[in-house]
Amino acid sequence: MKYFSTRDKSLKFSFKDIFLRGLAPGGGLFLPDEIKKYSKDDLNTLSQLSYNELATEIIFNFCSNEIKKDELNSLIKKSYSSFKEKEVVSLKKIGNINLLELYHGPTLAFKDIAMQVIGNMYDHLQVAKTKTVNIVVATSGDTGSAAIAALSNRKNINLFVLHPHNKISNIQRKIMTTIGGKNIYNIAIDGSFDDCQKIVKELFNEDEFRSKINMSGVNSINWARIVCQIVYYFYSFLKLQNNNISFSVPTGNFGDIYAGYFAKKMGLPINKLIVATNKNDILQRVINTGEYKPDKVKPSITPSMDIQVASNFERLLFYILDENDNKVTSLMQDLSSKRLFNLEKKEIQKIKIDFEGIKITDEETVRIIEKVYKEHQLIIDPHTATGVGAAISLKHLGDIVVLGTAHPYKFGNTIKKAIGKDLNPPSHLKMNVDKKEMFDIIGNSSSDVKNYILNKIV
Ligand SMILES: *Cc1c(COP(=O)(O)O)cnc(C)c1O
Repeated sequence: MKYFSTRDKSLKFSFKDIFLRGLAPGGGLFLPDEIKKYSKDDLNTLSQLSYNELATEIIFNFCSNEIKKDELNSLIKKSYSSFKEKEVVSLKKIGNINLLELYHGPTLAFKDIAMQVIGNMYDHLQVAKTKTVNIVVATSGDTGSAAIAALSNRKNINLFVLHPHNKISNIQRKIMTTIGGKNIYNIAIDGSFDDCQKIVKELFNEDEFRSKINMSGVNSINWARIVCQIVYYFYSFLKLQNNNISFSVPTGNFGDIYAGYFAKKMGLPINKLIVATNKNDILQRVINTGEYKPDKVKPSITPSMDIQVASNFERLLFYILDENDNKVTSLMQDLSSKRLFNLEKKEIQKIKIDFEGIKITDEETVRIIEKVYKEHQLIIDPHTATGVGAAISLKHLGDIVVLGTAHPYKFGNTIKKAIGKDLNPPSHLKMNVDKKEMFDIIGNSSSDVKNYILNKIV
């Protein structure tokens, strides 16, 4: 299996290459040139497997040229050994809804599930053997801490994490800035997550700088993250033994839900994928009207979804535009020159075969947390609540799995407001409350970030 770019199908990269690079040359995103299809019988066989065994089967499809299956299996076991749940994730019923809890890792959000594997892959693939790798990553609050927990004190790796200053929750920031490690640099950018992501993309597109610092990325545009997230769609689908299941996914950068789309491409008979957004509703709008037009980021009580430029959407466009890399390139050029693009009617219809888009306001989110607590004595975080809200409004679809993306402890203020309770930190949380927070505040420009990095790595 080789990987090409959404903007250039002629490119051929190995898994190791795309793992290290993250973003394709010219700004496109990587996709695999083969897609393994599981038949009904195959799925029956897979349903017997433990989470770790299933993860090995699924992930192996994408990296079999570089990693032996038994080595991948031990890498996965090691990655999930710190999780609170032996089966990594857990399924609960809240009324008619199935809640898939993905937040039992060391930093309490679903980001740990991919990031722990990625951390071990950096060592296994020996990408930093001869030259230090400098990873630069933008975070809307949860990716950063997951990356730090996965990469802290690894040999020959530095990690630079850009978060939007004062736009993430206190606990999100505290986890991120207290884990520490001599190779970890937290940078608060005076701007939004979109600004952070833009800076990272700009640095990737500067060939000279990128090769000078041997730059790598672990944002959700890194294909390895999507691959690890495909696993829990299979796992929960197979556990539920029901052939009419939709998934409701609290969405920001379109990474997590794209993993569901890919699972469907691999033969998992998912009904609908429901994109739950907050007031930053660009994805809900593009699904319903065809207009993709980023707005200014509006802060919400679901900061990890405060995103207007949903990078992974480009990976869906590639298939919606019949795998035409020129068309993808031209829409992306429109986006950067005119700040928007429009899809045609038939393209919108194609998206609607697989997707629904629902916006949930902050007020609704608080009400849902309150309702779920009152009716089921279960506390869910605000992001998860948007997924539950979207599922409630699309009840007619039948059985729905909501992806529980973060532990409520991370968003204590909102929980307090909704149900009047203070939450205790879970015992497996990797955070040192007594430690001084370490981060530097710097300007919203790629040259400021560049200088910062160059200063730190001399
Ligand atoms: C990252 C994140 C999301 C959004 O996931 P995407 O892959 O960016 O769409 C939703 N909820 C939480 C808690 C997150 O950390």
